[in-house]
Amino acid sequence: MQTITVLGSTGSIGVSTLDVIARHPDRYQVFALTAHTSVEKLLRQCCDCRPRFAVMRDEQSAEQLRAGLQAKGLETEVLAGESGLEWVSAHDDVDSVMAAIVGAAGLAATLAAVNSGKKVLLANKESLVMAGGLFMKAVAESGAVLLPIDSEHNAIFQCMPANYQNLEQAGIRKILLTGSGGPFRQTPLLDLAQVTPDQACAHPNWSMGRKISVDSATMMNKGLEFIEACWMFGVRPDDIEVVVHPQSIIHSMVEYADGSVLAQMGNPDMRTPIAHAMAWPERIESGVASLNFTDLARLDFESPDYQRFPCLRLATEVAARGGTLAATLNAANEVAVDAFLGEQIGFTDIPKVIEQVLNGSDCHEPVNLDVVKVADAEAREMAYQWVARLQRTA
Ligand code: NDP
Repeated sequence: MQTITVLGSTGSIGVSTLDVIARHPDRYQVFALTAHTSVEKLLRQCCDCRPRFAVMRDEQSAEQLRAGLQAKGLETEVLAGESGLEWVSAHDDVDSVMAAIVGAAGLAATLAAVNSGKKVLLANKESLVMAGGLFMKAVAESGAVLLPIDSEHNAIFQCMPANYQNLEQAGIRKILLTGSGGPFRQTPLLDLAQVTPDQACAHPNWSMGRKISVDSATMMNKGLEFIEACWMFGVRPDDIEVVVHPQSIIHSMVEYADGSVLAQMGNPDMRTPIAHAMAWPERIESGVASLNFTDLARLDFESPDYQRFPCLRLATEVAARGGTLAATLNAANEVAVDAFLGEQIGFTDIPKVIEQVLNGSDCHEPVNLDVVKVADAEAREMAYQWVARLQRTA
């Protein structure tokens, strides 16, 4: 029996994780569930899963959850704030932590799980983007087992040899990181400035939270994944090629020195990588339907269009430059996406905000977490100013 904490259980990845857990009551026991402010949803999840702890990031929401649990006669103990998130990630009774909080907000709790040597199922790519060097050093020192949830990284992991140490030793020529191109792959460029948040969140293949949906529409998601892959697999930017594959059936590929290309395929449903990582190295039922090859009319591939997707260009440039710039890029993106979802700026303003913030930022060596946090805070401040400026000129 594995005991698991699900950070961000009320989100898209969190809900899919609980779906997989519910299929295997003999294998998994929920230790803790966490949310930011979704009290009603977390209460329902507590009724279903009976965790020992529930954490609300927001203190007032924690009070409401406490009252709700009491009214239902449930014994789940409620904790609040960042310290509560870190506590249920690092607790001795926990074997695995699903890190599925969205954005930089997930960094501290994810690192707490890493530092305690847990099996860490990493969906929160932003933490690896922000603090990749420190994060991977902590993994090595604590003996944590890091398993990728992002479908692309999970696919790459599955296509690599079990004893993978580095590309050369494994005889790998390159990693092919696939991406669908999102909902605006073929939208006329001139129309992009007018697209709405709902249009941006209507991904053709995947159902996801709103932030990552917008990231997919700008292809910043692929950019963040590019940086994530560099850290996770210890490779250089030159070792990764981004390939646009609109059907999202191949989730990424690895090319070997002899010319063989291994691809991981499956229906676009996050329960596959979640179940893979949860049970690794075994395999378990995920609830995902079989891929029907006769229904697949075709698989297409194309190069990314950097004029249409300037966010992808910015992210790959940042990956090559290193330092704190990835934390800067991530923070500016979070502010810009939030402003777009709040209808303060347009879709094409997102890369403008990020580029201005990158141009105005220094690059430091991320020697410790404080340096990363300062870069993050300064980038957010600058990004808010650019959002305000763009609003005035709109
Ligand atoms: P959602 O927006 O659906 O869910 C986010 C979760 O994080 C919710 O439980 C939310 O709680 C919680 N949360 C939000 N803000 C905070 C905060 N400040 N402090 C603590 N908890 C917070 O996101 P997704 O599930 O889509 O994505 C989660 C992560 O997984 C992201 O990093 C994303 O990039 C990654 N990912 C997602 C994929 C997907 O298919 N969705 C695919 C691959 C990676 P509340 O409900 O209370 O707001």
